[in-house]
Amino acid sequence: MHVILMGPPAAGKGTQSKFLEEKYGLMHFSTGDELRAEIASNSPLGQKVQAVMNAGQLVSDDIILDIIKDRLSRPEYKNGIIFDGVIRTIPQAEGLETILHDRRQEICAAFDLNVDEAILIDRVESRVKETLARGETPRKDDNLDVLKRRIREYKDFSKIVSPYYDDKGLLTVIDGTQSIESVSQKIDNVLKKCL
Ligand code: AMP
Repeated sequence: MHVILMGPPAAGKGTQSKFLEEKYGLMHFSTGDELRAEIASNSPLGQKVQAVMNAGQLVSDDIILDIIKDRLSRPEYKNGIIFDGVIRTIPQAEGLETILHDRRQEICAAFDLNVDEAILIDRVESRVKETLARGETPRKDDNLDVLKRRIREYKDFSKIVSPYYDDKGLLTVIDGTQSIESVSQKIDNVLKKCL
């Protein structure tokens, strides 16, 4: 069972991914995290993508599709993948579909968690305050400039990718300001149909 998860930063994708991992044994997969790990390890791929990522541009579709293909072939991903912010262009969406088709698999559902920008800013500010109160260092991306840039990036790709999955009848838009349990319940109701 493969799931597409979209939503701006701090919309609750991490929390809902944990729910999906525990309930359905899916594996969380984020190309942003993968690419940052490649840069941190100074791998050939990391060296290749570093400049593009630092400039805030999109990494090429071929690179993204190669990473996806690799993950799909790994045994630990066999129950299915939560594609978190992985699909950002139409060629990526089409490429994923072809790769899955060749493996006789498919996307079961796509979710877009909707949260107003002012609420996202509030959430990140509270998260930073709580972290500081615990005497810990806030996440590097938990600052307003980074947050606003990442919200802009999300808007750019979601206005392309959401309609793609909507046209295929796979999209559910969920109000991410509801309680964690309500959001999980809505996701669960859709996924039950995929079992
Ligand atoms: P993120 O932290 O998920 O927003 O990703 C950080 C950066 O990684 C983005 O600004 C892009 O440069 C790159 N990236 C991550 N996922 C993709 C993707 N699916 N397509 C193209 N570039 C990506």
